[in-house]
Amino acid sequence: MSGASVSSLSKSGSSLPRLLLLATGGTIAGRASDVTSLNHYSAGVIAAEELLQSVPQLRGLAAIEAEQIANVDSADLQFDHWRRLVARIREALAVDPDLAGVVITHGTNTLEETAWLLQLLIDDPRPVVLVGAMRPASALSADGPLNLFQAVQVAVSSEARGQGVLVVMDGQIHDARDVTKVATQGVGAFASPGRGPLGWVDDAGVYLSTASGTRQVPFAELALPQQWPQVPIIYGCAEPEPLILTACLKAGVQGLVLTGTGAGQLSVGERRALEAWTGPRPLMLRANRCGSGPVHGGEQDAELGLLPAGLLSPQKARVLLLLAVMAGLDQEQLLQLLPITLVQDEQL
Ligand code: ASP
Repeated sequence: MSGASVSSLSKSGSSLPRLLLLATGGTIAGRASDVTSLNHYSAGVIAAEELLQSVPQLRGLAAIEAEQIANVDSADLQFDHWRRLVARIREALAVDPDLAGVVITHGTNTLEETAWLLQLLIDDPRPVVLVGAMRPASALSADGPLNLFQAVQVAVSSEARGQGVLVVMDGQIHDARDVTKVATQGVGAFASPGRGPLGWVDDAGVYLSTASGTRQVPFAELALPQQWPQVPIIYGCAEPEPLILTACLKAGVQGLVLTGTGAGQLSVGERRALEAWTGPRPLMLRANRCGSGPVHGGEQDAELGLLPAGLLSPQKARVLLLLAVMAGLDQEQLLQLLPITLVQDEQL
């Protein structure tokens, strides 16, 4: 990991809050050959130090030390990147009581998964803020510089303390559990369906209207291994092909997310495949593909070995399952961690 820093003193000479910036790549660190190119560009090519230097106004906000964890498109993030990111954040917060917080630059495609992973693993009141951009740094009206500035504003604010892992995009502040990318284009591509953003940030300051209320950090003590479990996601549709589900069960995956239609409804073919399966059952969560709203317990869940994913999107249910499998949780322990699931006791 390379280190770079901007000034640690404000113009007046007073000391500024200190932040750690961990760069992982994405469009915020992307560049095209033409300023009008919004789709054809290389993500993850600008180094952490250059990102910082491109926003000199940051010098008035914080003394920032930058490190490069990765420089990839976030679709190419690997478990080892996550492992190193978590280790570095834990270490930095543990050894440096004067560190005000951590800002992470990230590709927007899987940003919400990393945010939720960190929410489940990092137990510290100091802000951890993720930020990305929808337009490459080379674009006319690139959104990265202002997003980065605003992420730093949030990270050094007292309002963000104790709010868990936050995502700052387009002036909105989102909770790690609720936030999701909802559009392929446009700078306002993030939303927190059902709940809305936690707050806003602009030149008037940081405004958090709702407390996140999600400071559950069930895996704060979990040491992440080199080898991660296999936890695929299966996507539901009309007449789905049950061979994917059967292949996963035969392969011995340790966790499985079934993305049902509507409120997490599985097809008869999928239910039959689960009924017919006589081998060991992975931990399985039943999520939904609607993009908002809960999945509650269903009549056949206990028999089929399923738990309802509650408010978690399929991709966030998978992150939770990855950690649950690593921690050796059973179904009942996993159930306690699911946000809003109505399951009758006799179903377990
Ligand atoms: N391709 C990008 C990524 O790394 C998209 C983005 O960052 O907006 O996820």
